[in-house]
Amino acid sequence: RYAKRLHKVVRRLVPNCDVRFLLSVSGSGKGAAMVTAVAYRLAAQRKQIDAALAPFLLSLETLREVKDKMRTELEYGLKRETQASASVKMLPTYVCGTPDGTEKGKFLALDLGGTNFRVLLVKIRSGRRRSVQMYNKIFAIPLEIMQGTGEELFDHIVQCIADFLDYMGIKGARLPLGFTFSFPCRQASIDKGTLVGWTKGFKATDCEGEDVVDMLREAIRRRNEFDLDIVAVVNDTVGTMMTCGYEDPNCEIGLIAGTGSNVCYMEDMKNIEIVEGNEGKMCINTEWGGFGDNGCIDNIRTKYDKEVDEGSLNPGKQRYEKMTSGMYLGEIVRQILIDLTKQGLLFRGQISESLRKRGIFETKFLSQIESDRLALLQVRRILQQLGLDSTCDDSIIVKEVCGAVSKRAAQLCGAGLAAIVEKKRENRGVEHLQITVGVDGTLYKLHPHFSRVLRETVKELAPQCDVTFMLSEDGSGKGAALITAVAKRLHNVGQK
Ligand code: ADP
Ligand code: MG
Repeated sequence: RYAKRLHKVVRRLVPNCDVRFLLSVSGSGKGAAMVTAVAYRLAAQRKQIDAALAPFLLSLETLREVKDKMRTELEYGLKRETQASASVKMLPTYVCGTPDGTEKGKFLALDLGGTNFRVLLVKIRSGRRRSVQMYNKIFAIPLEIMQGTGEELFDHIVQCIADFLDYMGIKGARLPLGFTFSFPCRQASIDKGTLVGWTKGFKATDCEGEDVVDMLREAIRRRNEFDLDIVAVVNDTVGTMMTCGYEDPNCEIGLIAGTGSNVCYMEDMKNIEIVEGNEGKMCINTEWGGFGDNGCIDNIRTKYDKEVDEGSLNPGKQRYEKMTSGMYLGEIVRQILIDLTKQGLLFRGQISESLRKRGIFETKFLSQIESDRLALLQVRRILQQLGLDSTCDDSIIVKEVCGAVSKRAAQLCGAGLAAIVEKKRENRGVEHLQITVGVDGTLYKLHPHFSRVLRETVKELAPQCDVTFMLSEDGSGKGAALITAVAKRLHNVGQK
């Protein structure tokens, strides 16, 4: 009666637990085999997962190579003979000075090229009451307009400006305007910018090769309702650098890690062969997202990167950006998950409808899943919301995949930045450089590890540079206004 009594005692002691007793048949023999089989399966799985993620682990040596290649491409972009074919375009911005604190007035700014389109009114005060006040309104740009005709896109922009001017009650004011247009533009002056090519989610027709300021002016003329004094075309990296430069004069680099990835920095005029003059400095918009478009980093691109590229709006272009920026990281993760599922390592080998959907795995989910505070159960819940029915083991693997993808992104970005700060150090001819980088972008600001890994990589690869990272508060708005103000000031000085 041993068994019966045992069951009874157990049930009485833990009345809330439903305990079943099963008789084992030859546990030592079969059990040992079972333990071995499970261990074997897990080891085999581990091997396959490690194999899939191995190309994402970059050695220090590989990162140094990336840094060196970036440096080579930066030089190509600056030289007259190699510039036309360079993958890092190194576009002159005609921004030659940083704010000196005397800027003042009311400015309009437009911010196009990010997740949202915004119109802003920026009031800058100088002197002892130095301050910047901003009012802004966010407008959606529907997908059919982003990817429609250029005329539709610019008519829509002007419609939004009209709404904003009405809303603020300043329609008759003819304020100076800075246009933050965060796509590669070839500039011949601060208020002219020819679109080299769309990137990120934009693909409006009849714009590439056209001057964006002309297109904006024409749209304003078509509407014939108000006039604006368009003073500057601004890249968001430059706006970010200027915003931080307003607080810290040592800020000579601007970095964006958001939807896209890009950097600008102040270069010595004597190194910029395609612009006349050897005195002073000019800000260069590197457009480093195109790094590798000539194949120079194909050795580190994985099959997943290639799949993401092929499914994008601009196949073959912006290869570095597609490995490092918010628009693509989630998509890389999704490609890996599909592959692991096909290999039977995830989701019981079933590729669900939702996993097939492009864009379902947004980069914000990487941030959530990789958060150290999150329990596995919460990871499972996030996956469930995405329509991915996961086991506990699945969620561990998904977390590992996310970690590998975001870490590589931060390291690659760090290797690129190391090339820039090293170049600046050599330009100045100093043993040791102290420099500030203004940074904007939700990936940098919200991902739990991206910014730390980026900083660590720069430290490792550019040990002679002491780099301070400064978060920018709305570089696209404030920065555009500051650039407009500086340009106005310099223009007025010139006229006098
Ligand atoms: P933009 O670069 O478009 O001007 P942001 O800097 O806000 O604007 O970046 C938005 C991008 O950041 C989104 O496209 C998305 O890829 C990414 N993102 C959004 N939320 C998060 C998050 N929580 N963690 C990491 N990346 C995010
Ligand atoms: Mg932005």
